[in-house]
Amino acid sequence: MGSKKTDTVGDLARIGGYVRMKCRRCGHEGRFVAAELVAFFGYNKRPETIRGRCTACNSPDVDVGPDLGLARGDLRREKPKPV
Ligand SMILES: [Zn+2]
Repeated sequence: MGSKKTDTVGDLARIGGYVRMKCRRCGHEGRFVAAELVAFFGYNKRPETIRGRCTACNSPDVDVGPDLGLARGDLRREKPKPV
């Protein structure tokens, strides 16, 4: 048990985050919009408990986790224009 708290997909969706899935067999990596996963799993689902399957080699041995890296870049904050 680590001390690192993992966000739920609901938490990720709120900040525009992603869920990353990486195949342990072939290394294929996919990224899913957390907001779309909420529709399937609900807000309280933790990314690491999602059972994925590699779309490249069809292996069920997929590492799933939250991806916040892109979320920050995607959060575009429009600066109010001076009048
Ligand atoms: Zn694979």
